[in-house]
Amino acid sequence: MLDHKQVQDYIRTIPNFPHDGIMFRDVTTLFQDPRGFRLAVDQLLAPFVGQRIDKVAGLEARGFILGGAVAHQLSKGFVPIRKAGKLPARTIAQDYELEYGRATVEIHDDAFSPGETVLLVDDLLATGGTAEAGIKLIERLGAEVMGTAFVVDLPDLGGRARLEAMGMSVHALCS
Ligand code: 5GP
Repeated sequence: MLDHKQVQDYIRTIPNFPHDGIMFRDVTTLFQDPRGFRLAVDQLLAPFVGQRIDKVAGLEARGFILGGAVAHQLSKGFVPIRKAGKLPARTIAQDYELEYGRATVEIHDDAFSPGETVLLVDDLLATGGTAEAGIKLIERLGAEVMGTAFVVDLPDLGGRARLEAMGMSVHALCS
């Protein structure tokens, strides 16, 4: 029998995680299903086939799983953007605002050469703060973000509008 499930059908919602009142979109059920995972990776990279991409960057942690698979499929290198203190060599850091407080992401300072073009991947776009910090890190190394790709966009939280206002193209599989 044909399976007509779409990417969003593999994602479950967990109420009150990690805090009361949050509806957490859990993509582990998408990742653990062989058809769901392939569908998501294939759809994430589809608009970028044939475009000039030198590297794929992924945001910790679920952006590593998706970005690694996208990079492999496109035969490109993969660059991790990590939470503070995790990368072993010399890094540059970027702070960003959270709902409560601030956070920092880092990248190795030799991850990109000036002029390289980068596809940025993560599982979910909410306020866009994490993605914006990642974009800034990539741009501070002289590389250019040619596109961003997410499995889920939560448009009410404004991330897409925020990234588009920076001139970014935003590709999302479901919202
Ligand atoms: P933002 O910075 O856009 O507000 O939040 C997006 C970041 O937080 C992404 O790295 C994403 O992995 C994580 N995130 C926030 N809410 C959720 C959620 O409901 N589900 C998942 N899977 N990740 C989330």
